[in-house]
Amino acid sequence: MQKTHWKQLANTDYIGAYALGGEDLTLTIRETRRELVIGANGKKEDCMVIHWAEREYKPLILNRTNAKTITKLLTSAYVEDWSGKRITLYPTTTKFGGEVVECLRVRPTLPREAADIKCEKCGASIKPAGRMNVEQMAEYTRNKYGRALCAACAAAAAKEVTNNADG
Ligand SMILES: [Zn+2]
Repeated sequence: MQKTHWKQLANTDYIGAYALGGEDLTLTIRETRRELVIGANGKKEDCMVIHWAEREYKPLILNRTNAKTITKLLTSAYVEDWSGKRITLYPTTTKFGGEVVECLRVRPTLPREAADIKCEKCGASIKPAGRMNVEQMAEYTRNKYGRALCAACAAAAAKEVTNNADG
């Protein structure tokens, strides 16, 4: 049986392997910022923290390993570029103080959903826009313009509609 190190239980204000129930979890990054985290020993520590668009999920304290994975995955080291992007978390184990403990990692691959829906005009992969994820974006543009469109093509289509209305 997998044992639980006391440090794993220390801070349930933040998401950890305990919250995943052994499965992958895909979430949308809302904001990444520095904040003071109060640790198990009562010490305040300055940490990088990711907050999710799915507000029912607790924020993630970002360690170097996961920060590096996200940087590669989203091809940007700038946290502003991460907002609105979807990443997948998974539970695994690591060595901590000589013991094997549970931890949470970011998958080095984009969630499958992000690559699944192509723009029906230009063929590019539809990306999340504003508060909409890929599926919502596809559904919204399908309803409005009759086909699934990427943000750029949707903007062009909106312009066309306006021009036609003017003419
Ligand atoms: Zn397009």
